[in-house]
Amino acid sequence: MKKLDEFIPYGRQCIDEEDIQAVVDVLRSPFLTTGPKIAEFEKSIADYVGAKYAVAFSNGTAALHGACYAAGIGEGDEVITSPITFAASANCVRYMNGTVIFADIDEKTYNIDVNEIEKLITPRTKAIIPVDFTGQPADMDPIMELAKKHQLIVIEDGAHSLGATYKGRKVGKLADMTMFSFHPVKPVTTAEGGVIVTDNEEYYKKMLRFRGHGIEQTAYALEQGNWYYEMTDLGYNYRMTDVQAALGISQMEKLDTFIGIRQELANFYNEQFVTDKEFTVPYQLPNTLSGWHLYSIKLPEYVDRKKVFELLREANIGVHVHYIPVYWHPYYAKLGYQKGLCPKAEKWYEQALTLPLHTNLLPVDVIKISKIIKENIYE
Ligand SMILES: *Cc1c(COP(=O)(O)O)cnc(C)c1O
Repeated sequence: MKKLDEFIPYGRQCIDEEDIQAVVDVLRSPFLTTGPKIAEFEKSIADYVGAKYAVAFSNGTAALHGACYAAGIGEGDEVITSPITFAASANCVRYMNGTVIFADIDEKTYNIDVNEIEKLITPRTKAIIPVDFTGQPADMDPIMELAKKHQLIVIEDGAHSLGATYKGRKVGKLADMTMFSFHPVKPVTTAEGGVIVTDNEEYYKKMLRFRGHGIEQTAYALEQGNWYYEMTDLGYNYRMTDVQAALGISQMEKLDTFIGIRQELANFYNEQFVTDKEFTVPYQLPNTLSGWHLYSIKLPEYVDRKKVFELLREANIGVHVHYIPVYWHPYYAKLGYQKGLCPKAEKWYEQALTLPLHTNLLPVDVIKISKIIKENIYE
């Protein structure tokens, strides 16, 4: 078996001299945190997606926690999400003592299936957290319609899908609140970071408070004098720093270029695999443009995924698997969730394989990687 000269990770950041300079400039400025870069970064995100408000957080998980707080999720409330996601999409509900309900996925898109959501709605359902898996938007129109009918709040987990579009609208304009993550493998990075965008002023104000210890400038506090402030609710320190925000502002200028590169590479992968009936290449909903955070293929059922995975890692190809169904994790199993709950999600997990896709990857890498995979799958 051939080996690539260099290990190719499944995802990684793309940092240039402008990004580095932007960070250095903040380090020389008076404000490392709570400075002007935060609002500037928030505005760049809100303007890009066309939302009224954006609240930056220390990471995407904290942002999801903030959104669940703003939505008023509490004990006894049920929140429906997909099992094919990173655990944070469900954990945020648990932080608020809510109950997570997992709805099975659509076989073609691997995103949450709106018909499965509908079957699970009860008088206790409070919210839905659809996840834009791999960067492909969930089918948001029917989800929003269902939410409206049952008066549910929709928090879209767009960790993978900043820059993606659904029926001509950017992700961030579709749900009541949308989360984007800025972890290094995500569409743009702030090292660690996250944001919630929304058009709802009440949610916006609640999240601002939640991010900063629950402290607020009340009318009473203003009367007392400049030093006085009031903590009105139990908040957290979930602030992003100005160092991170400056990196984010600089990265946002390159987002569309990054997505263009990802789309071209994904198309190129498709071309390598589409003629081969052994592989199921990613299906795309009509009228959507994925952000292509991940390129995940489905292996044929007779293939031993573990064997293929290990072979490819030995060949220096950083394959990965997205995702272990969330309720399989011991924490959720202990809460009583059982295997078999979402059969389509489990089937996807058994044969899923994520191939490297990031902005530093070259078309020749795609050819090399595809060739090694095709040769080894038949061994
Ligand atoms: C990365 C990710 C998150 C969490 O974001 P962090 O910034 O890493 O906290 C949540 N949901 C999904 C689907 C993710 O991929």
